Amino acid sequence: MDSGDSTLKAAIADLREAKRVLVITGAGISADSGLPTYRGVGGLYDRDLTEEGIPIEEALSGGMFQRRPDITWKYIHQIESTARGAGYNAGHKALAEMERHFERFTILTQNVDGFHRDAGSTDVIEIHGNVHELYCTSCGEKEWVDDFSQLNGIPPSCPACGSLVRPRVVLFDELLPQDAVARLEEAVDSEPDVVISIGTTAGFPYIAAPVLHAARRATPTIEINPGNSEISAFVQHRFQARGIELLPYMAGQLGEGE
Ligand SMILES: [Zn+2]
Repeated sequence: MDSGDSTLKAAIADLREAKRVLVITGAGISADSGLPTYRGVGGLYDRDLTEEGIPIEEALSGGMFQRRPDITWKYIHQIESTARGAGYNAGHKALAEMERHFERFTILTQNVDGFHRDAGSTDVIEIHGNVHELYCTSCGEKEWVDDFSQLNGIPPSCPACGSLVRPRVVLFDELLPQDAVARLEEAVDSEPDVVISIGTTAGFPYIAAPVLHAARRATPTIEINPGNSEISAFVQHRFQARGIELLPYMAGQLGEGE
């Protein structure tokens, strides 16, 4: 850890005082489970265009899904198959363990892998959806699919009506789900005592906003991220580390002296 033990002690002291905590997580926490990231797709498409000669963001866009669902599905499937067999890691687990020390412990995640809920966290806002939750674009029939090799094709068709099926994820250029946005606004309005950001560059305004809002109110803020982010300059306690390196220790410290 670059930031030293005194900073870590101070961050844990702030957590000990807190009743309500808002945690924001991004691709970094799931990268430690061996997952490619949704945006960068593990670096696979960082430099090069896809086989179709378009950026990955365009392949994974709502507009492309309308025009050529086969292309969008090809890359959704590719991401899913790279992640197949992966599960939550010690970072997710530590967050789930921390929950019991607080009146409220809300996790806002950009990840679509569902690992926070798998690890046992109960108050999770999946702002970009969950890739395992499929639904029919015509009749709305829902299906939970853990492993896309079980699908009846790529793109898959609805078992009930034969129409196109898609995962409940927010594609590029699509709007955020209203229910998740309402829960996020409520979580921010409830003025958490500590806000923690883990493994995200906070590139989306709605991800950076809760941290910046807290910083303006002099609410303690913690960042755990190996690199620089949009919020690094504003947080009170900054750790250039990965979630899996720091969170199990923090959870252990919170559990001590009970
Ligand atoms: Zn259907």
